Amino acid sequence: MKAEIFSIGTELLMGELTDTNAAWIAGQLPPLGIRLQWVSIIGDDLAMLSDAFTRGLQRSDVIFTTGGLGPTQDDLTREAVAQALGETPTVQDEVVQGLERYFAGRGMTMPSHNIKQAHLIPSARFVRNRNGTAPGWWVEKEGRIIVCMPGPPGEMQPIWQEEVAPRLRELVDEEVTITRNIKTLGMSEAAIDEEISEYFGHENPYLGIYSKADGIHLRIIARARDEAAAREQIAPVEQAIVDRLGPYIWGYDDETPEQAAGQALAEGGLTLATLESCSGGFLANSITDMPGSSDYYKGGVVAATKEMLLANGVPAPTIDRHGTVSRETALAMAQAARASWGADYGIGITGVIGPEAVEEQPVGQVYVAIASLAGQRELEFRTPPRRIVIKRRVSNTALTELRKLIVSEGGG
Ligand code: ATP
Ligand code: MG
Repeated sequence: MKAEIFSIGTELLMGELTDTNAAWIAGQLPPLGIRLQWVSIIGDDLAMLSDAFTRGLQRSDVIFTTGGLGPTQDDLTREAVAQALGETPTVQDEVVQGLERYFAGRGMTMPSHNIKQAHLIPSARFVRNRNGTAPGWWVEKEGRIIVCMPGPPGEMQPIWQEEVAPRLRELVDEEVTITRNIKTLGMSEAAIDEEISEYFGHENPYLGIYSKADGIHLRIIARARDEAAAREQIAPVEQAIVDRLGPYIWGYDDETPEQAAGQALAEGGLTLATLESCSGGFLANSITDMPGSSDYYKGGVVAATKEMLLANGVPAPTIDRHGTVSRETALAMAQAARASWGADYGIGITGVIGPEAVEEQPVGQVYVAIASLAGQRELEFRTPPRRIVIKRRVSNTALTELRKLIVSEGGG
C-alpha cells in the first residue's frame, strides 16, 4: 500500500511552525506495512489543496492529512476533499448536537462557525476525536482512502492510535517492518562494532549503529509477513547484544535517560537531589519532564558561582585545592546535594560551558558525579564545545550513570 502525507497549514510554509506530524505519522507506517512515498506541506488555499488531493489520489492508495479541520475560514481540508471528489457536504444533525453538548459542558454556547465541523460528504465517515471539537474524516472512494486528522498533535496522535491504526491493520495485508532500538552509553562505536561484528552487514534483520546525544544506539530492523514473525527475527540479535553489551545498555525504543532513571528511582522507592553548574538547570528540567517526578525528585540548585557552591554545602577546602571545575568538586557537589536535602542519591555536575576556558580547562570539559549512601560514580569527558550540546550530553550522562548505580546497588 503506497501512502502520502499532507501537512496542511500556511503557518508551516511561513517557517512559524515545524511539521512534526508528518515525521510522527511516518514512524507509525512501517509496522503497518504501509510504504510512504511523499510528504507535502500545503498552505490554507482551496485550489492548491484540491489540486493536491486530485494528484495524490492518482499516485497513492492512501493520503493522510493533518490540519485545517478547525471551524475558521482558513480551515479548508474538508472543502478541498469534497471538491476533489466532486461531492457536496451536508450538515449532520447528530454531530451538531454533539458539538452543542461539548460547548454546553464548558458553559458556552456553540459559535455558529463550528457547524462546519459537522459537515460530511457521502464517501466520508467521521473519526472520533476525544480531545477536541474537530472530528476527523475517513474517506473511501474507488479503492482509495483519505484520512483527515486535526493539526494539534495532542488530538491527532490519540485519534491515530485509537481509530486509524486499528482500521489500517485490518485493511493492509503486506510485509511489515519492525524496529527495535537498543540504547547504550559508555562504550565507543568502534568497540561496539567489534563486539557484535557478525550481526552487521545482513539485510534482514538489518543492524544499524548510530551516535546520538544520549549515547550509541543500535537499531535492529526486520521485515516479515506479520509483527510476530518480525519480532522472532529480531529476538536472537537482541539477545546477543544484551549478552555482550548488557552493562552499557540503559534503555530501549523511545525510552529517554530521564525516563529510565526515573523508573529506577520510582521502583526502588528512592529519592534524588541535584546540584549542577554548567548544565544550567537542564538536568532538573529533564528530570521534571517526567510525570510523577515529584515522587522521587526532591529538587536541585543551579550554582553558577563558587559562592553558590559554598552556600549549598560544598566544602571550601575541596574547591580551593581542586578548583570549581574538577572531579573532586563534582563529587563534593553530589554528596552535598544528598546530605543537604536528605535524598538517597545526589548528582553533581560541573564543567566549562564557554565561551572562555576556566581554570585552564577547555570548553566542553565536564565532570559528573553520583553519590549514594554507600557508593559513588564519577566520570569526566569532553563534549563538542557548543552550549546546548554540553548541557544535553552532561545531563543525559548523569541520568544514565545514576540508573547504572541504582541497578548495581540492587535498587530499581
Ligand atoms: P484546530 O481546530 O485547532 O484549528 P486544525 O485541524 O484546524 O485544528 P490547524 O489549525 O491547521 O489544525 O493547526 C492547529 C495547531 O495544530 C497549530 O497551531 C499547531 O500547533 C498544530 N499543528 C498543526 N499542524 C501541525 C504539524 N504538521 N505539525 C505539528 N503541529 C501542527
Ligand atoms: Mg485551525
